[in-house]
Amino acid sequence: MAAQETVEHKYVYDFAEGNKDLKDLLGGKGANLAEMTNLGLPVPPGFTITTEACKAYLTTGREPDGLAGQIEAHLESLEREMGRRLGDPDDPLLVSVRSGAKFSMPGMMETVLNVGLNDRSVVGLSAQAGGNDRFAWDSYRRLIQMFGKTVCEVPGEEFEHALDEAKRAKGTKNDLDLDADDLRGLVDAYKQIFAKHTGREFPQEPREQLDLAIRAVFESWNAERAVLYRRQERIPADLGTAVNVVSMVFGNLGPDSGTGVAFTRDPGSGAQGIYGDYLANAQGEDVVAGIRNTVPLQELEQLDKTSYDQLLGIMARLEEHYKDLCDIEFTIERGKLWMLQTRVGKRTAAAAFVIAGQLVDEGLIDLDEALHRVNGAQLAQLMFPRFQLDHDFQPVAKGIGASPGAASGKVVFTSARAVELAAEGESVILVRRETNPDDLNGMIAAKGILTSRGGKTSHAAVVARGMGKTCVSGADELEVNVPAKTFTVAGHTVGEGDVISIDGTTGKVYLGEVPVMPSEVVQYFEGSLDPEHIDNALVRAVHRIMTHADGARRLRVRTNADTGADAARARRFGAEGIGLCRTEHMFLGDRRELVERLILASGEREREDALAALLPLQRADFIEIFREMDGLPVTVRLIDPPLHEFLPPLEQLAVNVAVAQERGEDVAKEEALLAAVRRMHEENPMLGLRGVRLGLVIPGLFAMQVRAIAEAAVAVARDGGSACPEIMVPLVGAVQELETVRAEAEKIIAEVVGDSGVEVLIGTMIEVPRAALTAGQIAEAAEFFSFGTNDLTQMGWGFSRDDVEGAFFWRYLELGIFGISPFESIDADGVGRLVRIAAEEGRAARPGLKLGVCGEHGGDPDSVHFFHEVGLDYVSCSPFRVPVARLEAGRAAISTTGSDSR
Ligand code: ADP
Ligand code: MG
Ligand code: MG
Repeated sequence: MAAQETVEHKYVYDFAEGNKDLKDLLGGKGANLAEMTNLGLPVPPGFTITTEACKAYLTTGREPDGLAGQIEAHLESLEREMGRRLGDPDDPLLVSVRSGAKFSMPGMMETVLNVGLNDRSVVGLSAQAGGNDRFAWDSYRRLIQMFGKTVCEVPGEEFEHALDEAKRAKGTKNDLDLDADDLRGLVDAYKQIFAKHTGREFPQEPREQLDLAIRAVFESWNAERAVLYRRQERIPADLGTAVNVVSMVFGNLGPDSGTGVAFTRDPGSGAQGIYGDYLANAQGEDVVAGIRNTVPLQELEQLDKTSYDQLLGIMARLEEHYKDLCDIEFTIERGKLWMLQTRVGKRTAAAAFVIAGQLVDEGLIDLDEALHRVNGAQLAQLMFPRFQLDHDFQPVAKGIGASPGAASGKVVFTSARAVELAAEGESVILVRRETNPDDLNGMIAAKGILTSRGGKTSHAAVVARGMGKTCVSGADELEVNVPAKTFTVAGHTVGEGDVISIDGTTGKVYLGEVPVMPSEVVQYFEGSLDPEHIDNALVRAVHRIMTHADGARRLRVRTNADTGADAARARRFGAEGIGLCRTEHMFLGDRRELVERLILASGEREREDALAALLPLQRADFIEIFREMDGLPVTVRLIDPPLHEFLPPLEQLAVNVAVAQERGEDVAKEEALLAAVRRMHEENPMLGLRGVRLGLVIPGLFAMQVRAIAEAAVAVARDGGSACPEIMVPLVGAVQELETVRAEAEKIIAEVVGDSGVEVLIGTMIEVPRAALTAGQIAEAAEFFSFGTNDLTQMGWGFSRDDVEGAFFWRYLELGIFGISPFESIDADGVGRLVRIAAEEGRAARPGLKLGVCGEHGGDPDSVHFFHEVGLDYVSCSPFRVPVARLEAGRAAISTTGSDSR
């Protein structure tokens, strides 16, 4: 046999041959069964058929050469080990045939138990069990049921009905009241159902049962629900599943037998303790199917103390070995414990932090590893406001948590109504069956979005996540009737204007307004919870891991902030400066009038007057921000958007002018405005007169801003503070643009700063592809670069975010053209390449050139890793994202040496 195996591809592994690192080949279940076997834990013997065999089967439509022989050989050695032969009429070996892919896909694929039973071996099984006929016939009827349903596509309900019928005949609701004769009758009924649907008798040949079951598991990889699940969870479609053939152990042999599932700690909160369910006298599938009520695992201590103690010992052993939370499946056969499955268990965001902290305390992992095991997406989840559910709020429906957050508001069914009510200051929840691009305005106006159809990649979900808006999608219990403006759910009818609450993390929907509160983690970042002095495992764990991340990271984290209040909050969240201070909002509100004067100025004098009036206002803005960021750098971007954005919209203006003219009023000023708006109208404002272009066209505009910045810095310094302004020129594409602005700015700065000791840097955004490609030249005139990855993405791809996210991104995601929106996570291959080129060529021309990023990508976990790797000095993001960026920058720094996360 050994000689044969050297020439032929190995498709079958005994449990003793595998280990936990072979998940690609053996699937998660097989790899971990092997690991437990090698740890000496009581695992029923068996073998695993590899994912490669599955892939070969799925591509060619038949079992690969050699597979049948290898199965035969492994089966023989299993039979030798067990001292029984598969399906032997007198003393049968029975096996289970279990799917198991690399990533767990709960309930998506197939498992068949009790393979090897037939009309003759059922008698042998009874004898094996000391004449327990009831058990033998129960096992046989289960085989026909599972085999029929999963291997031969017999509708499962037919078996369910026959079972219900048998119970009704017996006058009971409990499976356990059916005796051996009842079950024998049921087997006959099942066989008829089988024959009716398949046109053949239930196969009596054990090896045929085995082969058909293996093939069915292979094929279940491509079952519709499995395909959908993979798409949803972004699991690659070409991995295939392994098949585990495991000798059966029986939990249904009587009250001293049973089956259960357990977690080594609470996967919800991370708390230590025993979390599990146990069901006496049952086979494994009964627990999952919820047919009978389980009892808490603790009660096993009374039923079978020996097995219970052994189980706790094994759970401790597994945790120590895997150094993580594990979940397990086990069965007790007449007082003997068997382990049937384990894996590193899924957990909530809160539990991830708490468990990582505990494992450090227990000495099982170090802080680097703890940092590795949590991520920014989890931290972000923990920062969303939460519903305060301590009162009796019961959800009326549950959909998919498509975009996290907690939102309450009045129900509306159309985009137009959402916009109307929102304009009146109402909070609204937009409820639709599904959304489409026409709903975009309504989605923007709404506090939250609720749909009855669609998954995590539906239009609603994608757009909501892009906007950071709470969304529950696919709440299919909802009957949404848009024309009638109602939806019904769980016997309630909800109409327009009724208040509901939706939780975008859990997917739950509530009637009425559920109060919200800031999360504890935000309270901690805000400084109102002291981690050293409160008894809160989550806050303590977050504190500890964040502290470690801050120590490990190389990237600095700044914030995007335009006001003193934002700056102050971001600083509490750990921001180390401002990476983007936009100045445009400083031109709105009661300053609009000055801006209008500036735009309408007919001569140099008028324009200078308007600018002179704006100067002190701008200076005051900057003083406030510099004070808040005392001692830290503040990058101020000179005015960026096109000027007409500061004027009233064309239509409105035209109507006003017409009405006023009708009334014979003096409209000279409005007419001038209207003419200016017409003159400045652009077909493509994104690509029009904005940024540095504006500064070069309107004399004195940038000069006024530069003066305001320099004067503010000097004023702060005079008061004993320390301002570190960095003036950033937007939308530069050519070094000459920057040189022109720089020459003027330097003169003003020199004049204002004098000997105050204030230092002002001048740099540029890199957001036009041409700037990235000529970065070597531009660096000659720039002391820093800040990548504006929003515009760089727009111009790199040639689409504008506002126009495309609602219009076709959902389709691109569906087709897999993007795995994720390039506005959410930087497109490393394309746009990222521009960043890389600019960073390298910029630094080559000017060593020590400061490099940062100020697009929204600065707070996106994957993008942060990319920017770390490219070698930027800092990322800048919105205040709420600052902790996420700190955490991910720390993870990026440790993972350059460690393994990958997932
Ligand atoms: P899933 O991946 O859906 O959990 P499993 O392959 O784990 O499917 O099997 C389903 C149920 O059958 C589980 O409860 C499992 O413990 C039980 N089971 C599987 N193999 C055996 C076996 N050899 N003996 C007893 N019970 C088994
Ligand atoms: Mg299982
Ligand atoms: Mg920009």
